[in-house]
Amino acid sequence: MNAPNPSGWRPAMGVAAPEGFESPTVSGDRALMLEEPLIFELREPGTTGVDIDDLELEPLDTLAGFLRAEAPALPGLTEPETVRHYTRLSRQNYAIDLGPFPLGSCTMKHNPRLNEKLARLPGFADVHPLQPQQTVRGALAAINELAVWLIELTGMHGVAMSPKAGAHGELCGLLCIKAAIEARGEDRTVILVPESAHGTNPATAAFAGFSVESIPATADGRVDLAALTAKLGPHVAGVMITNPNTCGLFERDMKAISDAVHAAGGYVYCDGANFNAIVGKVRPGDLGIDAMHINLHKTFSTPHGGGGPGSGPVVLSEALAPFGPLPWTARMADGTVRLIEEEDAATEMPTSFGRMAAFHGQMGMFTRALTYILSHGADGLRQVAEDAVLNANYVLRSLDDVLDAPFGAAGPCMHEALFSDAGLAEGFSTLDMAKGLIDEGFHPMTVYFPLVVHGAMLIEPTETESKAGLDRFIASMRSLAERAKAGDETLKSAPHFAPRRRLDETLAARKPVLTWQG
Ligand SMILES: *Cc1c(COP(=O)(O)O)cnc(C)c1O
Repeated sequence: MNAPNPSGWRPAMGVAAPEGFESPTVSGDRALMLEEPLIFELREPGTTGVDIDDLELEPLDTLAGFLRAEAPALPGLTEPETVRHYTRLSRQNYAIDLGPFPLGSCTMKHNPRLNEKLARLPGFADVHPLQPQQTVRGALAAINELAVWLIELTGMHGVAMSPKAGAHGELCGLLCIKAAIEARGEDRTVILVPESAHGTNPATAAFAGFSVESIPATADGRVDLAALTAKLGPHVAGVMITNPNTCGLFERDMKAISDAVHAAGGYVYCDGANFNAIVGKVRPGDLGIDAMHINLHKTFSTPHGGGGPGSGPVVLSEALAPFGPLPWTARMADGTVRLIEEEDAATEMPTSFGRMAAFHGQMGMFTRALTYILSHGADGLRQVAEDAVLNANYVLRSLDDVLDAPFGAAGPCMHEALFSDAGLAEGFSTLDMAKGLIDEGFHPMTVYFPLVVHGAMLIEPTETESKAGLDRFIASMRSLAERAKAGDETLKSAPHFAPRRRLDETLAARKPVLTWQG
């Protein structure tokens, strides 16, 4: 156990004393950049944030002999120390309200404050999943209103609202496909997945009991239609295609792909994580898609990335909707909305594949997404897609003279701009660029994804970033690219100005130390 460290003093790690000063500050803090030890290093045994009287009665041992003999070794902090500890730590974090979050594929949306206001209305915030249905009619009607919008925007037939996030939605879609194939009495065991797919796609297919075969890409970063068609046959249950794909490109052959898959008896799953680039412009139903998850937390705002919940409703075609999960949100003939549960399934949804989640979905996320949709309207949603694509192309064309853009010559991108490490000086990598961005005060872009591009840097600027904000980011990226091309060694040890310097990430991932070892 470390010695108590009452003053919390700790030398600032990694930051050199400013010019003219012999040492960093005594406190370890640098003006408003505050250092903070681990809570266990602040420990002062015996101190607590609350006053609790000593227990005078013998405690009843209802724990079959497992009652603690000694108090747990909890860190002892007063109430103000506890508040300061967590507030100091929170200030070392990056957040969407501090600056751009250029994470490609993650779609860090603008989260309007209006969403939060409505999500906190007691009628939405305080509902309990076990309440009798007749006491939550308003909440169910709101879920149904969102469902109607999702169906309208995608041109699909039905929607399963309960999946908890994108990957869970993928599982829901594939279980629908599995049930549909079983209902036809067929045995199809293969799912085709493009090489550039998000890792969740092959993982989901395997989890659902399918085997995975990969589809190669063409030189311009899209699915190779001829190669895909050649793989189709009576053993193929379906394909999982991301559109726009993870290289930030629209799959122009999508309708031809769907037609070929359907002709061969398979189903088309679309990974809809990038729907924000085409919402209001293209309806997946018109492209022949049978199932697609919508990451509400990517396309329709709702905060994520800091541990906030996701929500991944799955829109389904007429062929797959009857196989959807329970509970299923349905509008009844009298206009009320009801959840079809197991007890009604035999009569009302006999082909459902069953339950895949304990409850009905994320009410807070439904409320935020519905608020976002209603406050934007159909025209506003279309503009969201247009602005996302415009911003990404501005980034692409502002950097493609200093960074390699593997598919840049093929034309405009969609909502994210893809670069590679080709052309950086020997020994310089994408990681150095990402760490340099931290010194510049930006959250790094997505790195080393998609895997089909060596040293990938995937940049997705949120649609609400202004031109001035994008110019600042671009200026930082240009400077980093120039330093990496010129072989500036200082970049290899970035970040220099962050509370912590470059970590051994491999060691941290392989041998994480998750408990305090005093
Ligand atoms: C984010 C993402 C997923 C997974 O979605 P989660 O909500 O994180 O489970 C799947 N595919 C793509 C392309 C994604 O960007």
